Amino acid sequence: MDRTSNLTNSAGLNCQWSNNVCYVVIEWYPTMGHQTVMDLLHEGHPGCTRMKALARSFVWWPGIDGDLEGRVKECHQCQLTRYTPAQAPLYPWEFSSAPWERLHADFAGPFLGRTFLVVVDAFSKWLEVFPLSTATSATTIDKLEAFL
Ligand SMILES: [Zn+2]
Repeated sequence: MDRTSNLTNSAGLNCQWSNNVCYVVIEWYPTMGHQTVMDLLHEGHPGCTRMKALARSFVWWPGIDGDLEGRVKECHQCQLTRYTPAQAPLYPWEFSSAPWERLHADFAGPFLGRTFLVVVDAFSKWLEVFPLSTATSATTIDKLEAFL
């Protein structure tokens, strides 16, 4: 954005630059209620995050975030274009046929300043827990080599 030019958008929001500071002039009419402001913010279906960001630059009232979220949830177009991560197919683990055939390992904590390496046998569900002072690959490899 050119910091020397003044901008006015269709919502009547006017940005005027002076000494590298942008002053926003809002043409506010007493009859302009929250619904009207939300209509202006919702112009072009920008989505909830952008609507909130734009609102924070210009307006505020108690509960505005909830009002904007409600507006987006009610809008069919916004729901069609919102970010939805691709559905990943689920592949269940195959059952183990013998003990120690497959192990599951993960970290738990930190709890009381320690991290725990948790190892579970997929066949018997036997649990082994190793307290670690630091959860690094080196300490994990050392514990697993000593264990197995
Ligand atoms: Zn919308």
